[in-house]
Amino acid sequence: FQYAAPANEPVLSYAPGSPERAALKKQLAAFKAEVADIPMYIGGKEVRTGNTVDLRPPHEIKHKLGHFHQGDASHVKAAITAALEAREKWANMDWETRAGIFLRAADLIATKYRYHMNAATMLGQSKNAYQAEIDSACELIDFLRYNVHFLSEIYRQQPVSAPLTHNRVEYRPLEGFVLAVTPFNFSAIAGNLPTSAAMCGNVVVWKPANTQVFAASVFMKIMIEAGLPEGVINLVYAGGPLIGDICFADPHFAGIHFTGSTGVFQTMWKTIGENIHKYKTYPRIVGETGGKDFVLIHKSADVDTAVTALARGAFEYQGQKCSAASRAYIPNNLADQIKSKLVAELKTMKMGTTEDFSNFINAVIDERSFDKIATYIDNAKNDPKAKIIAGGNYNKTEGYFIEPTVIETTDPNYVTMCEEIFGPVLTIHVYDGEKFEDIIRTVDSTSEYALTGAIIAQDRYAVELATRKLVNSAGNFYINDKPTGAVVGQQPFGGARASGTNDKAGSMLNLYRWLSARSIKETF
Ligand code: GLU
Repeated sequence: FQYAAPANEPVLSYAPGSPERAALKKQLAAFKAEVADIPMYIGGKEVRTGNTVDLRPPHEIKHKLGHFHQGDASHVKAAITAALEAREKWANMDWETRAGIFLRAADLIATKYRYHMNAATMLGQSKNAYQAEIDSACELIDFLRYNVHFLSEIYRQQPVSAPLTHNRVEYRPLEGFVLAVTPFNFSAIAGNLPTSAAMCGNVVVWKPANTQVFAASVFMKIMIEAGLPEGVINLVYAGGPLIGDICFADPHFAGIHFTGSTGVFQTMWKTIGENIHKYKTYPRIVGETGGKDFVLIHKSADVDTAVTALARGAFEYQGQKCSAASRAYIPNNLADQIKSKLVAELKTMKMGTTEDFSNFINAVIDERSFDKIATYIDNAKNDPKAKIIAGGNYNKTEGYFIEPTVIETTDPNYVTMCEEIFGPVLTIHVYDGEKFEDIIRTVDSTSEYALTGAIIAQDRYAVELATRKLVNSAGNFYINDKPTGAVVGQQPFGGARASGTNDKAGSMLNLYRWLSARSIKETF
């Protein structure tokens, strides 16, 4: 069947007095009133090992939300076995029947579990209500529905037939299992990586980030309620290296769907390479691996557009989006205006827990991340090439709080202009507005990443020049907008270079990677 492009799931506002606000508050209170006991899901069964890891809201580390049961090598092996046992029936199921499960899951989130998903993401990952809504409700629902649409488009692409022949293409799943390794920063991505592969008929071992297990387990329960047969997706919690060692040594390993750091992805790729002779089939390697995303402001820019792109692009979700603006180039003619408006804007951003809906800034994800970000800030405080012009304070007594921080540097190659920090830190460099072509070259060469970027300009020649010259510098390029907030179905998402394999999430390009086509020719 052909499934038409759906409308994007509408974003609820959670305005004071709205029914959705009351419902979300109720769910937050319900999650906080209990200590969740979170099992793994292997072969459709809940598995508890007793070897538990505590979960705490990053903004309230004294509160225990729950704990999850950590697995060992035997559980990873059991997950692979369960996946392979489920494979034949799942791969051969009518795709319409498979698709119904994912569409039903989307509707369950939209109508019954929206506040569960959002409250879990707010508490577990320290996202404010709006950031949770656009992630664990809208984007996740969109991924599920749009991928069914894209897959229906792929399946109907058929070859021509010469006289007295009949050609057809069967879009089969991969022969083996897919490993999905998912990040903390988007519950939507965590849900998309296993389900997009599964929707194509693949069976999956899913390892979420420890810091996202709370919402991941809520989503897994929704998938089961939607009718996912046992063994199709197996949710396991174990150390990344352990899971990698076992999965990458298995002859049935057929692909990895990954979002996380460049270093981890490159290590995985090497291990897969070393094991290549073991596999029945060449594995598909698909990864999204970070960014050092730029906002390039031209001397013709509208100042308010530039300030909004910086304030929101850099500091929404504490800068922990791969797409977050983290380096900005400001022309000298506008520098004073943009800096003072930006600093004033940041002062209006309240910081605190996610349960207080007036807070824009919440905590960063964990202590390791907090310490790493704090070190960059401290180094900048002690470097003559850098100056902190906003924020710069941090505190981890109650939670991992770091003020939105702006570093100004005279050196376009200063360390925080080049390295991914993954926190609420924006570095700006003021350039000679008359030397636009020079700064374009600098933007392109400063970072190894190429995920997102933005040009802010009124002058159409400047827009054109930046768009052309920065062709390989960002997989998602924005004109007069912030570089975050790609919407499924509207801006397929991903980047190349050190940012990943650019197999655009939420598009046909991604789904093709989970299919292994067979051409059949019959002669009459
Ligand atoms: N798709 C998200 C955005 O456009 C970013 C995804 C990520 O952080 O990996 O903001």
